[in-house]
Amino acid sequence: MSELEGCRALVTGGSRGIGRAICLELARAGASVAVNYNASGEAAREVVDAIQAEGGVATAISADIAESAQAVELVKTASAELGGLDILVNNAGITRDGLLMRMSEDDWDIVQETNLRGVFAVTKASLRSLLRSPAGRVINVSSVIGVMGNAGQVNYAASKAGLIGFTRSLAREVASRGVTVNAIAPGFIETDITAPLTEEQRDSVRVQVPLDRFAGPEEVAPLVRFLAGPGASYITGQCIHVDGGMVMA
Ligand code: NAP
Repeated sequence: MSELEGCRALVTGGSRGIGRAICLELARAGASVAVNYNASGEAAREVVDAIQAEGGVATAISADIAESAQAVELVKTASAELGGLDILVNNAGITRDGLLMRMSEDDWDIVQETNLRGVFAVTKASLRSLLRSPAGRVINVSSVIGVMGNAGQVNYAASKAGLIGFTRSLAREVASRGVTVNAIAPGFIETDITAPLTEEQRDSVRVQVPLDRFAGPEEVAPLVRFLAGPGASYITGQCIHVDGGMVMA
């Protein structure tokens, strides 16, 4: 039997990139998966089709997690369609890069509203269901940038560092109820977020990566599968890097 058989998972931003790979991986481990999307409905339905083609169970749910009412509705729909929730993966995230000197308040706000307040809203709404689960799991997708910082990304770095603090605090709040809360910190992964980088920018990233390359989303998803499963039952409040060795601590 696969290790997540009978588990019900909600993945925010499951339509593309890392979230898509996480949905496929959790489904392969036996979980039924709610694939949240905002703009990419067709891509989300393709993820659902791919899961169903492999014999898995999945449903696509539209919601802009930056809108708190939609975040709450998302959780309600996911719980109703899957029959509860055991695993929440807060993956949806955006960038609006620029040097602080030139960054608009809108670019600051939308990144916090999506990457941080969206996680607050979705997680808060999920908590009751997760507490009812025999082994509730929250996995937050932070970033190596939240740990190292990066010129041109003060808004993004602040949101991703905030997510690590959120992870540690919530881990302490819910530990006694058997729910674990962890973060992962991917390095540079080939997705639509990193696609606009120039060759020069990619070279300057690669010199900081001991493994000397970017990774594919399918190299991030197995860590989420592990954290969601029984093998991670004694791990909580951690931020685990999948970054080719960029940060060694
Ligand atoms: P991506 O390819 O741009 O995908 C982003 C996903 O988030 C999409 O599925 C998108 O859905 C969803 N999303 C964005 N805004 C949303 C909103 N308001 N409500 C609901 N869903 C929303 O990005 P990615 O590279 O896979 O990134 C996924 C996560 O990993 C993000 O949190 C990112 O910060 C983090 N990360 C990425 C890297 C990297 O190098 N790629 C490194 C470290 C961390 P729609 O298209 O349907 O709107």
